[in-house]
Amino acid sequence: MNLAIIGGGPSGLFAAETASLQDLSVALFEAKPSVGRKFLVAGKGGLNLTKSEPLDTFASRYINPEAPFNFWPSTLAHFDSDALRKWAASLGVDTFVASTNRVYPKELRAAPLLRRWVQRLRERGVSLSMRHKLIGIKIENRIALEFAAPAENKTIHCDAAILALGGASWPETGSDGSWCRFLESHGVHIQPFAPANCGWECRWPSSLLSLAEGKPLKAIHLTAGNHLAKGELLVTRYGLEGGALYQLGPTLRNMESPAIHIDFRPHSTEEQLIAKMGPIQHNFLNEARQRLRLDDATFALLLNSSETEPFDSSKSLAHRLKNFFIPLKGPRPIDEAISSAGGIRFSELDENLMIKKLPGVFVAGEMIDWEAPTGGYLLQGSFATGRSAAENAALWVNRRNHGRC
Ligand SMILES: Cc1cc2nc3c(=O)[nH]c(=O)nc-3n(C[C@H](O)[C@H](O)[C@H](O)COP(=O)(O)OP(=O)(O)OC[C@H]3O[C@@H](n4cnc5c(N)ncnc54)[C@H](O)[C@@H]3O)c2cc1C
Repeated sequence: MNLAIIGGGPSGLFAAETASLQDLSVALFEAKPSVGRKFLVAGKGGLNLTKSEPLDTFASRYINPEAPFNFWPSTLAHFDSDALRKWAASLGVDTFVASTNRVYPKELRAAPLLRRWVQRLRERGVSLSMRHKLIGIKIENRIALEFAAPAENKTIHCDAAILALGGASWPETGSDGSWCRFLESHGVHIQPFAPANCGWECRWPSSLLSLAEGKPLKAIHLTAGNHLAKGELLVTRYGLEGGALYQLGPTLRNMESPAIHIDFRPHSTEEQLIAKMGPIQHNFLNEARQRLRLDDATFALLLNSSETEPFDSSKSLAHRLKNFFIPLKGPRPIDEAISSAGGIRFSELDENLMIKKLPGVFVAGEMIDWEAPTGGYLLQGSFATGRSAAENAALWVNRRNHGRC
């Protein structure tokens, strides 16, 4: 076999698709009984495949401490969101651009796309082996991959390999991060995993939960340190969830005492809020609530504010509405996170996504140390790196076997 791809998530499947167009024998190995389990989970949220936005804005969403500065612009230029939409269309899956510029399949499901994708890979001669968990790699004359397989462990030899083993969130889908062990045994440095795009825990009193649990905070501005995020939050039993908070994850993880400030009324100044409240004689907070049309969750937060200053004047309430402080205990466990930060460090890779210490072994997808917010960036990044890794691996095999580029 020329090229072995290990991991049947979007990055591995797309690497297989790219390689299947080359003159190579390609085999894909997956630890679980079926491929694309996390992709199917993503489909439950409608499958936000990518985002329709200019390339430089798109590329600026990726956070990767060590990546060369042009890594994402060039990788995404090679396979951008239009290319992803065309590819989906080639499988008979039409997509649409939502008002948020997020791109979804019209069916809002992953299963039909995955089914046709796997069928096409088989038709193109890619062999797929399930229940094959990679447990070791040796670089000999060729690359030796050691698998824990159903009957017994087996070793498979190939000219080049692409590891597309995913990050460490939602381990039940197969991405359990256990691959770190055998790569570290080769001296490959892995940035420890951390939950990304996840909820954060706070200490809510039961009086707050009885009023606000499950209620949204809409059209708010959120700041952590110097970073601002706009959007929605949801009050949950354990704390807060939502896209605005996910965006601040990288900042919050680096804060000694993570905390956010919420501006509940980003489009009004304190003076405007004071004017709106007017003179209030009795039952201050309830009157103010009506005049400012505060929703349940905002009202519950104000009522249970941990700050000591009482709301006895329009001025103090307006100030708090524009600048509400919430200390956070920490992120939710990585098992629940949409994605993970951390993974194989860019400094361990050459410009072709090949592991410098393991010549002929390439990597793709979320197992590399990058992170991005929700919005289709995670899948687009997985597809685009899968494609690059496959093209580079094909060149490597051709050079090795035929001395040609
Ligand atoms: C709830 C949820 C919703 C999401 N929604 C979206 C969304 O709408 N849009 C978006 O862009 N992203 C979304 N994502 C994120 C997206 O699904 C991932 O970023 C993407 O699946 C990563 O692709 P990957 O191929 O790198 O890894 P994975 O999809 O994690 O695939 C890795 C594969 O490798 C296999 N594997 C692992 N170790 C081994 C081993 N040792 N041997 C053999 N096989 C192994 C695993 O079983 C798995 O099949 C969502 C994620 C979750 C959890």
